[in-house]
Amino acid sequence: MSDVIIFVEQRGGHTRKVTFELATEARKVADMLGGKAHAVVLGGGAPALAEQLKGYPLDVVHVNDDADVDTYLAEPEVDYVEALARELGSSIVLVPNTMHGRDIGSRVAARLKTGIVADVTDLKLEDGKLVCVAPKLGGAFITSSAFKNTEYGVVTVRPNAFAAEAGGAGATVQPIAKPAGKTYVVKIESHVEEAAAEIGLEEAAVIISGGRGLGSAEPFDSVLKPLAKAFGGAVGATRAVADAGWVPYSMQIGQTGKTVSPRLYIAFGISGAIQHKVGMSTSGTIVAVNTDAGAPIGEFADMLVVANALEVATELTRLVEANRSA
Ligand SMILES: Cc1cc2nc3c(=O)[nH]c(=O)nc-3n(C[C@H](O)[C@H](O)[C@H](O)COP(=O)(O)OP(=O)(O)OC[C@H]3O[C@@H](n4cnc5c(N)ncnc54)[C@H](O)[C@@H]3O)c2cc1C
Repeated sequence: MSDVIIFVEQRGGHTRKVTFELATEARKVADMLGGKAHAVVLGGGAPALAEQLKGYPLDVVHVNDDADVDTYLAEPEVDYVEALARELGSSIVLVPNTMHGRDIGSRVAARLKTGIVADVTDLKLEDGKLVCVAPKLGGAFITSSAFKNTEYGVVTVRPNAFAAEAGGAGATVQPIAKPAGKTYVVKIESHVEEAAAEIGLEEAAVIISGGRGLGSAEPFDSVLKPLAKAFGGAVGATRAVADAGWVPYSMQIGQTGKTVSPRLYIAFGISGAIQHKVGMSTSGTIVAVNTDAGAPIGEFADMLVVANALEVATELTRLVEANRSA
């Protein structure tokens, strides 16, 4: 038997969609392992978010609006999650595969002296063991891993990989005690909002991405943004354009940027270099718009439109907007 704990990434009571995906998946994993599904919600705004989580199929939501969580970097959250895991005994900790989730997950794994499986897209039971499925090298390989001879396991879960389904009997919300005797040193001076998009790239269902073929910084704002808005999606970019200063690095997708898995990825003026491909090739449908019919992206895109990127993006925006208002 193993319990499942999800770490809820939140600020001021606001969280990401992946939290609800984790809450739904935690139930399934807990049922597979014969344990309970727990969530840990910490920091300012946590009580309101805990109430919201009651609508998901969890057993217990542990909550503490500890101001230290908002003041100090990662350590207080790690203390709470570690303490709960030790109290429950055998447990699997699920964290979102986001910057902050990975930070928390790797620290918790180190504290619990266990392994961490990163960027997982499926979880199943084989021979009584939890098997974590994760695509590697842009989906070229699919790995299956299980935790060996350990009480604990930590898994970072890719946003958009699982469905979020409200329901269940209604979790019990209960306070979690602050771990005693801790002092923290790394203080958060300020939060800088990502300039990338209102919707985080990692969890956008549609990504409109641009490369050097757009010619300059200007079309990112004037052409790609309106198209992303029409789709309710986010704008991404290649490293070439981030290096050129056309967009912030927070928008970069690829080996040294973000890994994304939207349902639809439209690449405008992107050649499809391997370093870009590894960050987006597990997208549901990939459409590329490129003036070069022989561009490498044509080898892995579902559709290659040989045309001028700006003309296609502008026309597509018009069509999507017209369709939405129809
Ligand atoms: C260690 C390392 C790490 C890297 N990490 C990353 C990473 O994380 N992410 C990443 O993206 N890259 C990364 N790169 C860089 C990568 O190798 C490529 O250089 C980069 O992805 C190319 O960006 P691009 O497609 O925008 O530009 P280009 O390769 O220059 O391609 C531009 C494309 O636009 C097309 N085009 C031109 N005009 C038009 C037009 N009017 N309409 C339509 N199409 C047009 C061209 O035919 C071409 O295919 C990394 C490189 C290294 C060495």
